[in-house]
Amino acid sequence: MNAWDPAFLAAPPLTEAEDRLAPAHKIYALRTLPLGDIRAVGFDMDHTLARYRSPEIDDLAFKKAARLLVRERGYSPWLLEIDYNPAFAVRGLVLDGLRGNLLKLNRERQVVRAGHGSLAMTRVEMEAVYGRRRLSTAAKGFRSIDTLFEIPESHLYAQMVDGLDRGLLRAENYLQLFRDVRWAIDTAHRNGEMKAEILQHKDFFIPRDPQLALALGRLKRAGKKLFLLTNSEWTFTDGVLGHLLNGQDEDHPSWTNYFDLVVVSSRKPGFFLETPEAVPLKGHPRCFSGGHAAWLEETLEARGEQVLYVGDHIYGDVLRSKKNASWRTLMLVPELERELKLLEAKADDLRELFRLETARRRTLRRASVLQDQLKRNRLRYHVLGQRLSPDATAALDHEAAQLAASAEALRRRAEVQGLELQGLSSAVEATFNPTWGPMFRDRDELTRFADQLQQFACAYTGKVGNLHMYDPLATVYGPIPSLPHERAGGLLTSLSRP
Ligand code: IMP
Ligand code: MG
Repeated sequence: MNAWDPAFLAAPPLTEAEDRLAPAHKIYALRTLPLGDIRAVGFDMDHTLARYRSPEIDDLAFKKAARLLVRERGYSPWLLEIDYNPAFAVRGLVLDGLRGNLLKLNRERQVVRAGHGSLAMTRVEMEAVYGRRRLSTAAKGFRSIDTLFEIPESHLYAQMVDGLDRGLLRAENYLQLFRDVRWAIDTAHRNGEMKAEILQHKDFFIPRDPQLALALGRLKRAGKKLFLLTNSEWTFTDGVLGHLLNGQDEDHPSWTNYFDLVVVSSRKPGFFLETPEAVPLKGHPRCFSGGHAAWLEETLEARGEQVLYVGDHIYGDVLRSKKNASWRTLMLVPELERELKLLEAKADDLRELFRLETARRRTLRRASVLQDQLKRNRLRYHVLGQRLSPDATAALDHEAAQLAASAEALRRRAEVQGLELQGLSSAVEATFNPTWGPMFRDRDELTRFADQLQQFACAYTGKVGNLHMYDPLATVYGPIPSLPHERAGGLLTSLSRP
């Protein structure tokens, strides 16, 4: 690429500037992503190319669904008085529709935080219902909050659970509420009212990002085939992407000019699992409704790992495209910018947490060494018994008393350190979300959401515009994977040496 190449001009001045990018502008690779090998780059639309104004859009869905429940399912108009609370839920949580609960799971799929309706459950209540059992979230009655669209659904459900518990709503059980709220949110998305309102107020609901057109233009100029793969239908897609991309770049006056293939109403995850025929859209060349992954690959002459798909839905966009089509995946995490800001703001506290945890583990370790010495002391006492002189017996007893006292002191210190740790970590985690803490971890564990991201995404980033800062032909390197025994064996130290 020379300095007059348009791809070069559209690029940031420093090609090796990755390290200097602000954290919110980076692409975080989990696996090495050789962009040079990618022939086709696909994009999901909603919450990927299009970032909607939040919480306003969620408030809209919440109100529309509440109105549907009152008007068509006979629920009490009490539902219309409730204000939407955007902080109520975060992505990655799981709804337990049988019990009226919302759950945060760790990577082992064990419940680490829970709420019944809008009330947080205590550790004892949580243990009583779920214990340390590993949950299968695919089981009947569970629903994973995988997209930002599902955040209002969880709040509405929790409010209805409260309503049923307080005798303000009538329903057979929590599961009926769960099904009705699903129906209401689904209907609000399908009946066109919500989408019409979004399109009517595009400037308000769909903020533009000047980097978006630059990112797509850069990829295109580097010879990549671009495609759109969205579950949204044509009219909405045309309205949203026209608003975001038309007239942004002389070379691509219409949004469709960016794409070699446009697939609307794609029915993901079905797009990766079934093989329905793609239907061409009259008057719109290269645009189709439906279709399937193998057809798309053939049309674009790019297969498996030559395809990179960018989407926000961990299941429909990332897991299925990776598992069923072997595509590479870039997961969009719109919440990342905020999480990064908080991590930065809380850096001192996080360092202190790490120090405290290390100190507590050391204290516990020392206590257990003393405990072990005490056990051996008592064993000697019993085995040797009569054969010990009175002086030796007294010495052993003296040592045992000292060991017991020191172990006890260490245990107490660990308890204090534990309480300190708990206090600080609760305060830090509450800044992410007062009820649920950060999306990616809980104390010293990764969450189920973080685990899924690690398993199925090649990389993740906060917005599509970030691709603009990356050379489309360069490799984005992921961390070198390692196991604890390799670290002990010094493999990584030798790898990191020049
Ligand atoms: P994508 O993210 O671009 O694939 O599009 C997601 C589409 O699914 C949007 O048109 C949403 O309005 C729609 N959607 C989200 N949740 C629901 C639902 O619960 N029922 C029906 N459509 C939904
Ligand atoms: Mg999406």
